[in-house]
Amino acid sequence: MSVGLVTISYIVATILFIKSLGGLSNPESSRQGNYFGIAGMAIAILATVFGPQVIGTGSVITIMICMAVGGSVGIYAAVKVKMTEMPELVALMHSLVGLAAVLVGYATYIDTNTSFVGAEKTIHEVEIFVGVLIGAVTFSGSLIAFGKLAGKISGKPLLLPARHFLNLALLVGSIVLGKWFLNVEDINVGLIPLMSMTVLALLFGIHMVMAIGGADMPVVVSMLNSYSGWAAAATGFMLSNDLLIVTGALVGSSGAILSYIMCRAMNRHFLSVIAGGFGTEGGTPAAAGSAEPLGEVQPISAADTAELLKEARHVIIVPGYGMAVAQAQHTVFEITKVLRDQGIEVRFGIHPVAGRMPGHMNVLLAEARVPYDIVMEMDEINEDFPNTDVAMIIGANDIVNPAAQDDPNSPIAGMPVLEVWKAKTSIVMKRSMASGYAGVDNPLFYKDNNRMLFGDAKKMLEEVLGHLKG
Ligand code: NDP
Repeated sequence: MSVGLVTISYIVATILFIKSLGGLSNPESSRQGNYFGIAGMAIAILATVFGPQVIGTGSVITIMICMAVGGSVGIYAAVKVKMTEMPELVALMHSLVGLAAVLVGYATYIDTNTSFVGAEKTIHEVEIFVGVLIGAVTFSGSLIAFGKLAGKISGKPLLLPARHFLNLALLVGSIVLGKWFLNVEDINVGLIPLMSMTVLALLFGIHMVMAIGGADMPVVVSMLNSYSGWAAAATGFMLSNDLLIVTGALVGSSGAILSYIMCRAMNRHFLSVIAGGFGTEGGTPAAAGSAEPLGEVQPISAADTAELLKEARHVIIVPGYGMAVAQAQHTVFEITKVLRDQGIEVRFGIHPVAGRMPGHMNVLLAEARVPYDIVMEMDEINEDFPNTDVAMIIGANDIVNPAAQDDPNSPIAGMPVLEVWKAKTSIVMKRSMASGYAGVDNPLFYKDNNRMLFGDAKKMLEEVLGHLKG
């Protein structure tokens, strides 16, 4: 393939990637956005593999074999992964992007076929140094994020005494090593500062994510997404591949924008997220975290829930992580249809960090074919709760916790929440009194107008549906 054709292919791929990002910003166009992305990536791969930088049939065959192996692992992981484990998979994928940047950096450095001199050589080496640095931070940080999300590492923030100084020392150490690296002529000697910096960057990645508490993990996942983009862009510079630079920059900046949006949704400053220390161990029983029980809860049966729903005129359903675990979205939609057929207004209230990944609930509701026009963002629906008869909370906990507003000492103080307690009646559907991801007690459960429907969300909703139909 000629250089001209490769350039045209890269431009087309870039346009497709931008259209893909545009499509993904709205649930209705997200499927189309995905198709644009797939087409762009297919063009990018073909143009790169058959372009002038890959020399000889042997190289093409080697790349094809590697792609077949990597692609098979990817397909297997994507098919096998449960929707609730998606953030873990994403974190793991980010770590691979980081690792790739590190490996490309080393390979480029020890490649004796390049003949850069003077300023060009310095620029090339800065690219390598920065690429390896970002790659190593992304690699180790993403692995720790994976461990935290998968529950293999405690969600509790690790707050070392002089942690900010430690970070500063790692940064200063990397700068000193960078200066040494740029002044070295011999590759074998240059490898010493490069490897030393890699170790520091790996430690920095581990320390940075270990210090972040469970409640801030959504921001960390999107921040690492951004880092992986910058790592890819750095790889693009090292390989002189324009498309990789553009694509990396797109991922890097969109991840940064998403991190900012999520910080705003959680009322957190980005810098304080990075400084760490917010949230506790996920999934601990509420009683363990609180000094005294907050009162009595009032259980309700599926039959009585159905009665309350039948008598209501306005219903808001708030789905959370538990709906994803129970895979109850289809039954939720069945109930929605029955209620709407009886002239009852049913809408959904979606919190920006409901579930375990950005857009988690939107994806599940779209899969169940819930119409988009009744799925509202938190800001759009929050003021409607006082005029709502029944707020039905399905497997959600942190996102409906009034302590975020009322208790300045709560670990989730300041996080905007869905104000379900303002509805005439709220019904919380969950299996036990266990806390949610942030590991904090929820005073909502004890409110006079709240009822608890205990049990697996899917099983209980099927019972409610049975009573509604019966
Ligand atoms: P939570 O984790 O706060 O609560 C989920 C609740 O679902 C639990 O209390 C659990 O209670 C219940 N549950 C679990 N399984 C079932 C089941 N089979 N049937 C019924 N209930 C079930 O979830 P939320 O969605 O309210 O909040 C999301 C939290 O996750 C926030 O703290 C957010 O910061 C964090 N997070 C969000 C990410 C994102 O990007 N969206 C990423 C990472 C973390 P029980 O065990 O009693 O059933």
